[in-house]
Amino acid sequence: MATPIAFMNGDYVPLEEAKVGIMTHALHYGTAVFEGIRGNWNPEHETMYIYKLREHYERLLRGCKMLWIDVPYSLDELCEVTAGIVERSGYTEDLYIRPVAYKSQEMVANLNLRSLGDGFFCLAVPFGNYLDASGAISCCVASYRRIDDTMVPPRFKLSGLYLNSILAKTDAIAAGFDEAIMLNMDGHVCEGTGENIFFVHGNTVATPTLESNVLPGITRDTVLRLLEDELGMRVEQRLVDRSELYTADEVFLSGTAAHVQGVGSVDHRPVGNGGVGPVTQRLQELYFPIVRGQNPSYLHECTPVQPKALLGA
Ligand code: PMP
Repeated sequence: MATPIAFMNGDYVPLEEAKVGIMTHALHYGTAVFEGIRGNWNPEHETMYIYKLREHYERLLRGCKMLWIDVPYSLDELCEVTAGIVERSGYTEDLYIRPVAYKSQEMVANLNLRSLGDGFFCLAVPFGNYLDASGAISCCVASYRRIDDTMVPPRFKLSGLYLNSILAKTDAIAAGFDEAIMLNMDGHVCEGTGENIFFVHGNTVATPTLESNVLPGITRDTVLRLLEDELGMRVEQRLVDRSELYTADEVFLSGTAAHVQGVGSVDHRPVGNGGVGPVTQRLQELYFPIVRGQNPSYLHECTPVQPKALLGA
């Protein structure tokens, strides 16, 4: 039997006991840094594989530096604590793991990050598909532009920043689309609300540069490497024009929650033939076994954890 466990301020506790007060700074102002990490259940191995755990915490710690948040754990300790939650919770299904480092001080009307105390918690919950990994989704171009690095840096997962994605996503769903694609302040394509974006043009795949105000996605890195090393494709990181959304052979998204997701239409115009294109499909065939610990060549990217139920604890 699975029991939801959180790690909060130094202890493993039942998830329902992990609470914050209503004066918590992060709740008022979004002064937090978070990660979204996946634990992928492999029934044959009876093992949870946490994909690129260290890379997620490296990104979290970079965001903490930006927000003057002091996390009292090393990178190794953060990884150990996270594996500890998965082990103790005992889930035998796919998980979403959410660490949050935040301004925990219960103080209102204080906008100086350096005078506020910090907290850290992490939890894991069962999580299936975020988007429709089996088919191609419909997208629109958002009317909200992606926030620029000169405003709030989008290269870190800062909680307050996500209002930008949330407004765009909410409008997209209300208009009947599955996802919104955001342009940056100069009108170039940036990313989805929670995914990086790729464009297939013949044997070349383009994706916006990091300076386009995208989140440096961990799945983006995986995809770029698989495209070059496994599929032998040419990869370009460059400025991408809006019109490419309507004319590329294929458009696909990548993200921890979204995996590798085909885009079937943008603003009602079909992309390719409107289904999941052949390059996207080949990437998916490579990606899913890797994150589930089924490809020995990439096993070093996964942290294996045995849930307590199977340890007889
Ligand atoms: N862009 C944004 C805005 C995101 O929130 C995410 C999800 N973390 C991504 C891209 C994809 O990043 P990753 O592959 O590291 O999950």
